[in-house]
Amino acid sequence: MSDKMNKNRVFNFSAGPSILPLNVLEDVQGELVCYKESGQSVMEMSHRSKEFDKIIKEAESDLRELMNIPENYKVMFIQGGGTLQFSMVALNFMYKNHKADYVITGSWAKKAMKEAARYGDVKAVASSEEDVFTYIPKVDKSMVREDADYLYICYNNTIYGTHYNYIPDVDIPIIADMSSCILSEEIDVSRFGAIIAGAQKNIGPAGVTIAIVREDLIGHAHPMTPVYLDYKTHSENDSLYNTPPCFAIYVAGLVFKDLVAKGGLSAKQKANEEKASKLYNYLDSSKLFSCPVAKEDRSIMNVVFVTGDKELDKKFIEAAKSHGLINLGGHRSIGGMRASIYNAMPEEGVDRLIAFMQEFEKANA
Ligand SMILES: *Cc1c(COP(=O)(O)O)cnc(C)c1O
Repeated sequence: MSDKMNKNRVFNFSAGPSILPLNVLEDVQGELVCYKESGQSVMEMSHRSKEFDKIIKEAESDLRELMNIPENYKVMFIQGGGTLQFSMVALNFMYKNHKADYVITGSWAKKAMKEAARYGDVKAVASSEEDVFTYIPKVDKSMVREDADYLYICYNNTIYGTHYNYIPDVDIPIIADMSSCILSEEIDVSRFGAIIAGAQKNIGPAGVTIAIVREDLIGHAHPMTPVYLDYKTHSENDSLYNTPPCFAIYVAGLVFKDLVAKGGLSAKQKANEEKASKLYNYLDSSKLFSCPVAKEDRSIMNVVFVTGDKELDKKFIEAAKSHGLINLGGHRSIGGMRASIYNAMPEEGVDRLIAFMQEFEKANA
C-alpha cells in the first residue's frame, strides 16, 4: 500500500512546510508505530527516556558535525518558529545599549525589526525596499552604529528569492535568520553571534526551531523575559527545560544523518548550485519568463520568476499543478511564481519543471 501511495507523490515546490527526503519519510514510516526496541512510537515516548535522550543528543552532534559548529556555541531546539525568534533575539541580545541595527531585505527582516522596536532603539541601516527587495544591500562598518548591540540580517529571503553572497564585515555580533537556507551550503558559523532557523523550510517538520548562539551572548536577557524565551533556559537544560517538540526533533535528526551519510554540506551545496543554475540559466534565456532578482544576489533555495502578465502567471501555476508540479505560486504578498528547491528537491524535479516551462512557453508564445 505504501509503495502505491509513494507513486502518487508530486514534486512539491512549497516554500514551507516543504519537501522532505523520501528515504527519510520512509524510515519514519518504518518505525512510526514501534521505534527500534522501545515498543512505542517516538510520539508516545517520554522526553526524559533514554531513547529520546539518544535521539536529541545525536541530532545535536550531527548538526554540529554538518555545520562545523565551534565549541563555544550552544545549539538549542526551541518551539515557536522563526517568528518567536524575532522576540527572543531582541529580549536576549539587546542588553548593552538597548540598540540594534537591522538590514531590511524583505518582510521577515521587517517583522523582526518591528518586534525588536518593542524593547529598544532600532535602526534600519540599509534597505532594498525601494527596489521591491530585488537585491541585497552592501553593508559595511561605516553604516552600522558603533554602540549597537548587534546587526540583524535575514540571510536568505524566502519571499523575494535573494541571498547574501557576503557576510558584513562589522565589529558587533551578527544575528542571522537562516530559516530558508540552513544546511544548503557551507557557512562559517564563527562569523555570527547567533543563527536562528525554523525547521520547516530545509530541515524537517514544523514545530522545532534551531538556535545556534555564541556562549558569551547568553545570560543577559531583559529582566522581563519569560523563562521560556531566555536562551539560558534552553542552553542550561540541553533543550529539555520543558517538553520539546520531540517528534519534529526526531525527524530533523534523521535528515541530519541522511546529509552526513551523503557527504555533508559541501556535496549538498554543489548539488544545490547545479539545480539552481539550471533553472536560472533557463529563466535568463526565456522570452516568456524572467527573474527579477539581481544576478549576484540570487537564492539557490527560492527561485522567484514572472511572465509579466498576472493572468498568464495564474494559468501557468494551474497548468503546472495538473502536471504534478505543485505550489509554484509566489508568496501571497507579491504574486508571480516561486520554485522553492530545497535540499530535498531532487534534480529530476527541477528538470521536469524546466521541461514544463519550455512547453508552456512554446504554447503561449
Ligand atoms: C518562514 C520564515 C520565517 C517565519 O517562520 P515561522 O516558523 O512561520 O514563524 C522567518 N524567517 C524566514 C527567513 C522564513 O523563511
